[in-house]
Amino acid sequence: MKGMKVFKFGGASVNSVERIQNLAAIVRSFNDQPLTIVISAMGKTTNALEKVVEAFYAGKKEEALQLFGVVKNQHLTTAKYLLVTHYNPCLARLNDFFTEIEWLLHDKPVRDFDYYYDQVVCVGELLSTCIISYFLNQEGIANEWLDVRDLLRTDDNFRDATIDWKVSTERIHSHLTPNNSQLTTPIYVTQGFIGATADNESTTLGREGSDYTAAVFANMLEAESVTIWKDVEGVMNADPKQFPDAQLIQELSFREVIEMAYYGAQVIHPKTIKPLQNKDIPLLVKCFLDPSLPGTTIHKKNAKALPPIIVVKQQQVLMQLNSQDFSFVGEQPMSHLYAWINQSRIKPNLVQTGAIGVQLCFDDRADRLEQLASKASNEFDVQLEKNLTLLTIRHYTREKFEALTNGKEILLQQQSKETVQVLYREPQ
Ligand code: ASP
Ligand code: MG
Repeated sequence: MKGMKVFKFGGASVNSVERIQNLAAIVRSFNDQPLTIVISAMGKTTNALEKVVEAFYAGKKEEALQLFGVVKNQHLTTAKYLLVTHYNPCLARLNDFFTEIEWLLHDKPVRDFDYYYDQVVCVGELLSTCIISYFLNQEGIANEWLDVRDLLRTDDNFRDATIDWKVSTERIHSHLTPNNSQLTTPIYVTQGFIGATADNESTTLGREGSDYTAAVFANMLEAESVTIWKDVEGVMNADPKQFPDAQLIQELSFREVIEMAYYGAQVIHPKTIKPLQNKDIPLLVKCFLDPSLPGTTIHKKNAKALPPIIVVKQQQVLMQLNSQDFSFVGEQPMSHLYAWINQSRIKPNLVQTGAIGVQLCFDDRADRLEQLASKASNEFDVQLEKNLTLLTIRHYTREKFEALTNGKEILLQQQSKETVQVLYREPQ
């Protein structure tokens, strides 16, 4: 849609009354521009709702209801603080959402855990967007609240649902057309992270999936840009909590961001880039605490010289596989190995093959690694070492590499023209 911008506000940007007021100020500063605003659940609501489903599924009904009561009260308190004229209609909507969950919690679980997870967890986004939409209306920012479950059709792979692009695109086109809207300037408020099946069962797209929802809307609406509003200045070349001298990168290519996400940088949900790259829609990462800061622009163009980009992954496990009878590790054992990796639903962060051995580095997912190790022990001698660190440097320089690996006991190293990765033991 011509001139449409998509905004995404994550949990941290809506976790207090002040931050929701700040969101309204940002939206107001874009007055008279068509906007689609995709919002996450407030603060840590999703985590709290996960605890509700776990209790429910464990048969602890009272505990589930009590935990849900806490979530309820938090939202009621926020709504009370923010809303005056629009409090009553908002409360009626919130109560509908609460009742639906409470009914479900009174039942006994008869289906898969993942199904219940999605039915309960999706309410976090419904509640946050409901309150914010009423608040914006109250503040004179006329907007339309959309239940994204009427728009984004997915399959029934609960907790990791896949979007049906054809149906969803058609629906978004027919719902979000200017002539369909009562508003002079279309401003839509909707939920990230959730969707629904053809049977109207709620689904979720995987944790932190709201960035992806924003990108999907942008793609389908042929939006002008997507802005992700965060509590940091923009995309940095390292995690500022670990590296106080981390610097802002003002411009990045889609390609670079995909690479960064692949190596484990926690910048943007990895699925976000493809829908934007495919339609050449720029992605802006901006700071909601100070919108005047330039932030980061991610687009098709290759950025000029980039600083070294550092990604550190802790709690890594090295799996050493050696052939049992000194035979070569050829295609066949390798193809078995990949099949087992696939079955164990675990992804290696690094693979190095040699004549009679393979070394793999994984995140420490104990249950899945055990499963893999037990399968692999049919063909290999298996050894595991835990508590390692995987360091990746894109656009490395020798100085940077030396500074970051100095004094570390390196177990594995892999290097290409752009990227170097080392797995090391932390000094004791
Ligand atoms: N609320 C969801 C989560 O916490 C989705 C998101 O924040 O992107 O994972
Ligand atoms: Mg979030």
